[in-house]
Amino acid sequence: MSGSEDRRLHDHDSGEGLLAVDEALERVLSQIQPLTPLELPISEAYGCVAAEEIRSPTDLPSFPSSAMDGFAVRAADVVGASPERPVELKVVGRAMIGRRPEVTVGSGEAVRIATGAPVPAGGDAVVPVENADDGGDLVRIFEAVVAGRHVRPQGEDVRRGDPIVRKGMRLGAPELGLLASAGVPHPLVHPRPRVVILSTGDELVPPTTEPRFGQIRDANAYTLFGAVREAGGVPILAGIVRDDVDELRETVLSFDLQADAFVSSGGVSVGERDVVKAAFFQRGDVSFYRVAMQPGMPQGFGHVGDKPFFGLPGNPVSVFVSFEVFVRPALLKMMGRSQLRRPEVTATLAEEVRGPVGKLQYVRVRVARGEDGWVATPTGGRGSNLIATLARANGLAMIPPGVGVAPAGSSVRVMLFRSSED
Ligand code: AMP
Ligand code: MG
Repeated sequence: MSGSEDRRLHDHDSGEGLLAVDEALERVLSQIQPLTPLELPISEAYGCVAAEEIRSPTDLPSFPSSAMDGFAVRAADVVGASPERPVELKVVGRAMIGRRPEVTVGSGEAVRIATGAPVPAGGDAVVPVENADDGGDLVRIFEAVVAGRHVRPQGEDVRRGDPIVRKGMRLGAPELGLLASAGVPHPLVHPRPRVVILSTGDELVPPTTEPRFGQIRDANAYTLFGAVREAGGVPILAGIVRDDVDELRETVLSFDLQADAFVSSGGVSVGERDVVKAAFFQRGDVSFYRVAMQPGMPQGFGHVGDKPFFGLPGNPVSVFVSFEVFVRPALLKMMGRSQLRRPEVTATLAEEVRGPVGKLQYVRVRVARGEDGWVATPTGGRGSNLIATLARANGLAMIPPGVGVAPAGSSVRVMLFRSSED
């Protein structure tokens, strides 16, 4: 957006000249690519998206094994065996877990076997100890078994060459176990983006410091830390940066090697000390937009080198909403995810909500199940500095542009930002 367009924007409530949220998000996402895939150790690949189809290099199970403690036999030898008419077999050895059996099962023979031990050659079934009388050199079998009984066949679960993880699939707990079983210790996945978080403002102090009058503690770094983590990224706290163009540029550059993306808060509106804007405006790599949303109207987005840079507004609620609307979908795209949206429900508004006609308003609400479906109750005032109202909320109700008053009882779409277990 050019400076002359900026000057036309005098009536923000009307929404005139503002960029629609969908369009702004589209601009962001069109400039974001999934991170280059890496072969990561299984535990680090947890939660990441597979960048290729993974096929099993082996059968699973990879050898036939016993499902019971008992005797490996030839099924043909024990046809007709019963408690009244047991069949007597010669015990020729023992099959143990973790070892290749040294014996085979010949005709009229049995091999003592433990659960999980490989079934010796010649044997095709296992008779559990409960159905046998172990006499040392001889065993009496009380049960007729069919071939395959109590044997876990090789390849029953997975055949060598079978696909075990689809491309684009997110690796959860069962997939990690499967990859470990199959001997794929370094699956090729899209890594988690490392997101450098900067807080700009001369008034800020860390939460460990007692603010002097007029100073405030840096909330945004921690909101963003949690939000990046929840999105699956790796947050890196770069700390507080003064409202000084050189300091901001130096800090950004000093973190460049560690970063896959940058997120700053503050300094993107029109005030005289709007440092992020001053540092990047008209350099062609970061653009500043006025988006038809509340909170979160001023936004900066672009690249520093080849790393995406998100310049979010400074107010704590604006930061959170902007992250949800723009940064989170972008981080998910970097991770190779295809579903970039939060889950949404339609809910009934418990109270009237007023807002700016020209903007999409995100209202902090607590959503709960009522008798006739979901009910959304606003958690407090509209001010974008009111961070406790956000902490009480589990969703953002979306009042579309064009609606100045959403009456109590009307239906709203709500984006849920906490899982239903929370
Ligand atoms: P700015 O856009 O930089 O003027 O910031 C807008 C408002 O958000 C100001 O009242 C700032 O003091 C406040 N603010 C900016 N950064 C933070 C932060 N990291 N934590 C809490 N409040 C902040
Ligand atoms: Mg500031």
